[in-house]
Amino acid sequence: MQKTTPKKNFTTNLLKWHRKNERPFPWKETTDPYKIWLSEIILQQTRVEQGLPYYLKMVKFFPTVQHLAKAKEDAVLKAWQGLGYYSRARNLHSAAKYIVEELNGKFPEDFKGWLKIKGVGPYAAAAIVSFTYDLPHAVVDGNVYRVLSRYFGIDTPIDSTEGKKIFSVLANELIAKKEAGRFNQAIMDLGATVCKPSSPLCTICPVRENCVALKKNLITTLPVKGKKILLKERFFHYIIAQNENGFLMEKRKGNDIWKGLYQFPLIEAEKFISPSKFKVHPTVKNISAGNKILLTASEEFIYLLSHQKIHAKFFILSSAEFKIENYEVVKKTHLKKKAVPKIIEHYLKNNIH
Ligand code: SF4
Repeated sequence: MQKTTPKKNFTTNLLKWHRKNERPFPWKETTDPYKIWLSEIILQQTRVEQGLPYYLKMVKFFPTVQHLAKAKEDAVLKAWQGLGYYSRARNLHSAAKYIVEELNGKFPEDFKGWLKIKGVGPYAAAAIVSFTYDLPHAVVDGNVYRVLSRYFGIDTPIDSTEGKKIFSVLANELIAKKEAGRFNQAIMDLGATVCKPSSPLCTICPVRENCVALKKNLITTLPVKGKKILLKERFFHYIIAQNENGFLMEKRKGNDIWKGLYQFPLIEAEKFISPSKFKVHPTVKNISAGNKILLTASEEFIYLLSHQKIHAKFFILSSAEFKIENYEVVKKTHLKKKAVPKIIEHYLKNNIH
């Protein structure tokens, strides 16, 4: 009998398992590069369960790249509202315009071509060309790092330059050349459903026979992560100022989170400002046009992003009149149509009816 290596075994057993255990998602049932591209951008930094309704919504609102290119940025951000990492939506939109205007609506057909598309990095490019054209480019996401580091017993930190290289080379050696798309789906599905971060289901794992972590009892120590993520703390004071025409709002600018989304006038500080200091803050004085004011502060809301912790309070500002030059006045009935950060969406839902 011919002896098989752990590497060959891995690919063969993985593919065999996947033919019976594939997770059914709509983007797996198509080879339309537009839909696969959409799904890949949505699924970056997003769990599949959370991304699925957004994928369905985007496909419904913008069924083709031409529809997406023609859409207004506000409409794209509104469809994306709640998914976070809004630069993905902005990049998707400007890339759609580029594909329609510069490439005549024709998508790239190879890895290098996709790398030229805004918002598409090596991971997404590998995923798109393998799922669409079965080109042998391995994807290496968190699931793949976990499966490979455990199966081969590799303790190089997955977030180090060396680790990234080792796992990428390994995944590209393992990939099934003729079934690249299925291989990539299979290894990610295995990581998501069997080789889970905690309590992996080793007893039903198709590659358990040669798994180093299982043999050497290393499951809880692998994969290894080097860096600790430092959370930046930010303190947001939103000003709720309403006149007879509506609420004062502004569009977020600059190179920061939530760019392009709407918000109430905002004061950011290194910690929460006391009510007495808040009343005389230049922004508050400016909005209330020097009138006598009344303030009501909300409780604190906390919103966690991958690298930031946002502490927010909402201050209802009452004044005889407001100076509105720097703001947009949004009718109460139009508030829901604006794309806003989740923290404001939450406030609107619970406080403004
Ligand atoms: S045997 Fe267990 S640890 Fe090893 S790859 Fe399978 S699920 Fe992961």
